[in-house]
Amino acid sequence: MVTNKVITKLNSLLIKRFGIPKRKKSNPLNLLIATILSQNTNDKNSYQAYKNLKANYSDWKLLISEDIKKIEQTIKIAGLGKQKSRTIKSLLSELNRKYGKVSLDFLKSYSNEKIIDELTSIKGIGVKTVSCVLLFSLNRNVCPVDTHVHRTLNRIGIVRTNSPVKTFYLINENLPKGIAHSFHTNMIRLGREYCKSRNPICNKCPILKMCEFENKNNIAVKIKENDFMLLDNI
Ligand code: SF4
Repeated sequence: MVTNKVITKLNSLLIKRFGIPKRKKSNPLNLLIATILSQNTNDKNSYQAYKNLKANYSDWKLLISEDIKKIEQTIKIAGLGKQKSRTIKSLLSELNRKYGKVSLDFLKSYSNEKIIDELTSIKGIGVKTVSCVLLFSLNRNVCPVDTHVHRTLNRIGIVRTNSPVKTFYLINENLPKGIAHSFHTNMIRLGREYCKSRNPICNKCPILKMCEFENKNNIAVKIKENDFMLLDNI
């Protein structure tokens, strides 16, 4: 079981290194669309795709009747245009059909579990995407788990899982109150800047002492700071 104590310790070390990240509250539908665009690409390209959509469509509702090829073209820079444009269109059409308006404001009164069930019923929307809405727009104490967070938590030895979804449920079972935004954001920075997939920079890692990764290495390279976070800019 992942203990509250070990996450608290890790969170403190992360804050010591990266500080407490700034946060901005965003509209849940904007955030969900931005998160769909961010799947399998970097923050810079998905942010540009989001800005392209916003510049071309003053109201998300306009996308329901838009030609799918045009949407694909508009978000091309984020990759997987066909898949992402279909998901966005299905989401908006489903909201309009079910609730008579294109908005996610109704989620505010729902439990986390109900929100996950409701939104993952739409093809192309998974648990990770919904958890970003829970954290960044609805201010729930939920830590989304992407590939960086999954890899790093497994290397540290806090979880032993073979998928980000399993890591998500384990880490959120006992997440200390009020830490989700800072913990999630700093874990992503740890994964991007130190605990890289191929060559982790263990000798400079701020959590070297508590990490149980058996292949801790000693590569001495310059750390490149990477603190632009898409979802904090929507
Ligand atoms: S010590 Fe190495 S393996 Fe462990 S978290 Fe840091 S970079 Fe990753």
